[in-house]
Amino acid sequence: MIIIIKTSNRQERSYRNILIIILSVFISLSLIATSVSADEVNVYSARKGYLLQPLVDAFQNDNNIKVNVISGKAKVLQKRIKQEGKNTRADVLLTVDAGNLYKAKKDGLLKRISSSKLNNLIPRYLRDDGGYWYGLSIRSRVIMYNPEKVKASDLSTYEDLANEKWENRICIRSSSNIYNQSLLASIISNLGENNAEEWARGVKSNFSKDPKGNDRTQMTSVVMGECDVTIANTYYLGKWISSEQDNERKYAEKISVFFPNQQTSGAHINISGAAVTKYSKNTGNAIKFIEFLASDEAQKLYAQANHEYPIRDSIPVSSIVESWGYPFKKDTLNLDELGKNNRKAVMIFDRVGWK
Ligand code: FE
Repeated sequence: MIIIIKTSNRQERSYRNILIIILSVFISLSLIATSVSADEVNVYSARKGYLLQPLVDAFQNDNNIKVNVISGKAKVLQKRIKQEGKNTRADVLLTVDAGNLYKAKKDGLLKRISSSKLNNLIPRYLRDDGGYWYGLSIRSRVIMYNPEKVKASDLSTYEDLANEKWENRICIRSSSNIYNQSLLASIISNLGENNAEEWARGVKSNFSKDPKGNDRTQMTSVVMGECDVTIANTYYLGKWISSEQDNERKYAEKISVFFPNQQTSGAHINISGAAVTKYSKNTGNAIKFIEFLASDEAQKLYAQANHEYPIRDSIPVSSIVESWGYPFKKDTLNLDELGKNNRKAVMIFDRVGWK
């Protein structure tokens, strides 16, 4: 825009000055408006896009904050934040497993935040005591079994799977997987290191095959009769039940869920969660986004989309999740313990030869 103002005398010059002031005020105001609408939060997410998108849409609807998502595997994203250091664009790390969040905190990737909203919305055992990370959805790692070969009354606890009655009947994924490391970490907390090692040794000696593949691979082995029981995260069965693929829905009919340790410590649970990164440039927006994810509105979406459990019992679970039995007794061990015991768990797996 070009403005030509001809001035012939002093009065006109003063008009010109006033006009210039008005114009500069107008330009600064529009700049402020632009920066408000460019308000953003950058999320590095190990959660799948289809899961996150409805939540992002809902958040953007309610707030004038744009959410930019970069998706990737948990380990890759954490490495990236580390490498990017102070220059990272990441404001929020969204990831799975308390063990991963604990590691991110230990590696100095996270910023401590203080939010009374989050402290009220999220039960204490599902978040870091120091305000470094917050659990946003619950998953339970349970026993899944072939009902043609196993009666529910034969099942009881994780500990029982070390019993020789299960010889050659168990398949489970490798110990390099964080889900199994966190499960063993919880057993270390609940039973002590020696008992946990005995347990791992016993379960390993009952394997029907070497650990290979993910949870769904093991569930498929149960369906195919290659083993009778496995330990897997509940939402994988939820995905099968609601799958568009015929074979997955058929598989789902041939496998059942058993929540172990209902008379004792409760079934092992873990979380997906969020944290603000240490070098976040949009900390206020990052906190707002995490607070939104913990709200009733987001919790309802979360629970339905991935067949996970909400962080508060007042939020309804999906009908599929409900069909497995709800509520069940959860192990309410502080999830920080999973991270603290991770090294010990990895060493035990190594010693007993659980690949
Ligand atoms: Fe998973």
